[in-house]
Amino acid sequence: TFRILHGSRDLAFALVTATQQVSAIDESLRVIARPHDVLDPVPAEPAKPGGGTIAFERVSYRYPEGRKVLEDFSLTIPAGQKVGLVGPSGAGKSTIISLIQRLDDVQRGDILIDGQPLTALAQDDLRAKIAVVPQDIALFHRPILENIRYGRPDASDEEVFEAARHAFCDGFIRQLPEGYGTLVGERGVRLSGGQRQRLGIARAFLKNAPILILDEATSALDTQSEQEIQAALANLAQGRTVVAVAHRLSTVSAFDRVLVLVDGRIAEDGHPTELRRRGGLFNSLWQLQAQGFAAE
Ligand code: ATP
Repeated sequence: TFRILHGSRDLAFALVTATQQVSAIDESLRVIARPHDVLDPVPAEPAKPGGGTIAFERVSYRYPEGRKVLEDFSLTIPAGQKVGLVGPSGAGKSTIISLIQRLDDVQRGDILIDGQPLTALAQDDLRAKIAVVPQDIALFHRPILENIRYGRPDASDEEVFEAARHAFCDGFIRQLPEGYGTLVGERGVRLSGGQRQRLGIARAFLKNAPILILDEATSALDTQSEQEIQAALANLAQGRTVVAVAHRLSTVSAFDRVLVLVDGRIAEDGHPTELRRRGGLFNSLWQLQAQGFAAE
């Protein structure tokens, strides 16, 4: 929801309005342009165990049908750090989280996890290092138990229940007509956006990967749902490296570090409290959101 802001004409506001208008065009681009298929190296390096350090080293990237999004982009995220990516639509936040998952290969530079270039690892080994909580999870027309177990197919029922408890799903699932046996998916029970997101968190719990990628839903949630998701995410984030595309600045206020991206570049980088004190773009976005404006 976006209303006219009276009086103030700061940089953040200009960015916010301008980028909201082009985001509809962005959406149609995304459907047309499909990334290339990535290939497994032969032979692949065995994946080294590690806490999930992420490094972008002088990366340049353009979409197959698009313009250059990242140019000579470098970033190091130490293991265990919780990083929120914020910035206007089109700034490159989604691109960064896609590239960490190697959904496409970069044209120049390297992306490394625990010191190994993504291109040196088998994709299965890379996937084992990363759990993703997407904006909206795909549900299958199967019992909800199986939908959560999808996070780790060999998990026991008890492990699924435990993940659901950590993700604050257990309560609502037990109230469904057939509890964990309830069919969900297209023709199943309809779940709210907040419930679906928590199922995504439960799946990620089961996967138990060192890196957590979170693509926060943009949709507005009621306060209780919001609080449960925040609590579930705080549980899940513990002991992991977290990279989150955050639409709500309240999410990043609990993080170690915020990166404000503008046009593929890091405009601000620091602890959220520090960035607010500095009075730059993050602070302006913060002020706008405090007044009830979308911060994207
Ligand atoms: P949003 O908050 O709207 O999701 P974002 O910060 O995540 O934005 P990206 O989605 O990473 O931004 O987009 C960065 C740039 O890359 C934009 O200019 C966008 O139009 C372009 N882009 C994104 N996806 C594709 C694609 N599949 N093909 C071509 N260009 C793309």
